[in-house]
Amino acid sequence: MVDPATSGDMVPGDFAQGSGFSAGACESGLGVTKRAFVIGSGPNGLAAAIELARAGVRVTVLEAEPTAGGGLRTADLTLPGFAHDLCSAIHPLAASSIAFRCYPLREHGLEWIYPPASAAHPLDGGRCALAEVDVAKTAMRLGQDGSTYRAAVSPLASRWDEVFRDVFAPLHFPRYPGTFMRFGLLSSLPAAVMARILFRTEEARALFAGMATHSVLPLEAPASGGFGWVLTLSAHGVGWPLARGGSQRIADALISYLKSLGGEVVTNHRVNSLRELEQGALILCDVAPRTLVRIAEDRLPEWYARKLARFRYGPGVFKMDWALRAPIPWRNSDCAKTATVHLGGTLEEIADSERAAWRGERHNRPFVLLVQQSQFDSSRAPAGQHTAWAYCHVPNGSNEDMTAQIEAQVERFAPGFQATILARHTMGPAEMEAKNANLVGGDITGGAATVRQLFTRPFLGMYATPVAGLYLCSASTPPGGGAHGMCGYYAARVALNATPRGGVR
Ligand SMILES: Cc1cc2nc3c(=O)[nH]c(=O)nc-3n(C[C@H](O)[C@H](O)[C@H](O)COP(=O)(O)OP(=O)(O)OC[C@H]3O[C@@H](n4cnc5c(N)ncnc54)[C@H](O)[C@@H]3O)c2cc1C
Repeated sequence: MVDPATSGDMVPGDFAQGSGFSAGACESGLGVTKRAFVIGSGPNGLAAAIELARAGVRVTVLEAEPTAGGGLRTADLTLPGFAHDLCSAIHPLAASSIAFRCYPLREHGLEWIYPPASAAHPLDGGRCALAEVDVAKTAMRLGQDGSTYRAAVSPLASRWDEVFRDVFAPLHFPRYPGTFMRFGLLSSLPAAVMARILFRTEEARALFAGMATHSVLPLEAPASGGFGWVLTLSAHGVGWPLARGGSQRIADALISYLKSLGGEVVTNHRVNSLRELEQGALILCDVAPRTLVRIAEDRLPEWYARKLARFRYGPGVFKMDWALRAPIPWRNSDCAKTATVHLGGTLEEIADSERAAWRGERHNRPFVLLVQQSQFDSSRAPAGQHTAWAYCHVPNGSNEDMTAQIEAQVERFAPGFQATILARHTMGPAEMEAKNANLVGGDITGGAATVRQLFTRPFLGMYATPVAGLYLCSASTPPGGGAHGMCGYYAARVALNATPRGGVR
């Protein structure tokens, strides 16, 4: 189990030294490259910049938008006094991140809030499965599935840190082979198949299905089971925290730490061509593969540009934020014990909704991921009032308005919800992409996490490009989506290891 209190402390232990991908420690000083630019200030761009700065490189982060942070931004979207997370809201991955845990983020203003439970999954008739941080308490509520749940989850949840280190890394020989094999066995089946084989109750099946939907894959897809376990294990191994004051505080802490190392962040600077940047500098791109093709112009060999252009994106999201006059009136009060609530009913209903998004169809009862930040962080709304955040998956680039469908799903498990709404804000795929060019067609994970694109994204070369000194470091590289910064961390280390002592210039 990762001790939340260690956020900001050095992580003990280390992967084998020397290989480009296996670094797991906090040491710096891998090379002495003198100048670098990072394009994009999402969690991966900032982690990459910090790793470079820790190695003594002078780094400038260039960000297209007026506010830095990418998927970590928080903004006033509805009424004065209400703070809404534009993208990411819940942070088991950031709290577990080997990179972020190396940095003194607490000293730079980051405070995690851990709700008592990680996620709730209400079902019709007032029932509710609750993923508490304690595995035994969670299992106790799952009836005849309790012992199976405990047997599957306990051994790995207690080793969550080991799971994280081997899963949230590019392909490598596992540092913890026993733990990794156990995780691999559990993850060998698609989520829907695994849930049906392991569990008998609607509660346990639905709880696991809800976890697996974070993959943004159909629950019959091979990799969906692995995502289900990662989310389940993180729910017990670290908990699902939010940042006091908003996800922006994570970005602000990263930026503050970067500045303390001599780095700088320039906002309102969209890079349209690599020619704009000082020649000879290292360049790490926290951008979508197709943006890299565009800004590199003729620098990339044609075969490589073609590969990047073929990179596959998954469904998009339709997102809503609400200002509420009161807490959400959940039918089952267990839903108030957690910030994250999975709304979509049974495994069958959820699987149907996720398949539709992949088929390019609108679903009238979509699976909805809802977060109620102000329930645990009173700084998000004026006294007595609340915020809520939710999204559902929709076909990539869809322009359907899903407001009615999302609100109907909330109302289904919280009758009277609509009467609490003071104001609402909606963003479909086009608006999401307009606020962040990396969200191609509304895809929030940097590209589909299909087996083919899971470990070798955007393809075999991963971080390195055929152009010396030019690297990709966004969620379109391993280990993929999520606000963990591990793509940037590994990309920077590969870049530094590839750079001869003395630097590029
Ligand atoms: C609605 C939504 C909900 C999410 N929920 C969660 C969650 O709860 N927990 C979680 O862990 N993850 C969540 N995620 C995923 C997470 O936010 C992303 O996986 C993560 O932010 C990816 O980080 P990144 O650094 O690769 O890219 P991003 O965070 O997307 O940042 C990329 C940055 O690059 C900038 N940029 C792009 N092109 C250029 C250019 N040409 N010049 C200059 N700058 C450029 C963009 O403006 C952006 O700021 C969510 C995402 C979304 C959209």
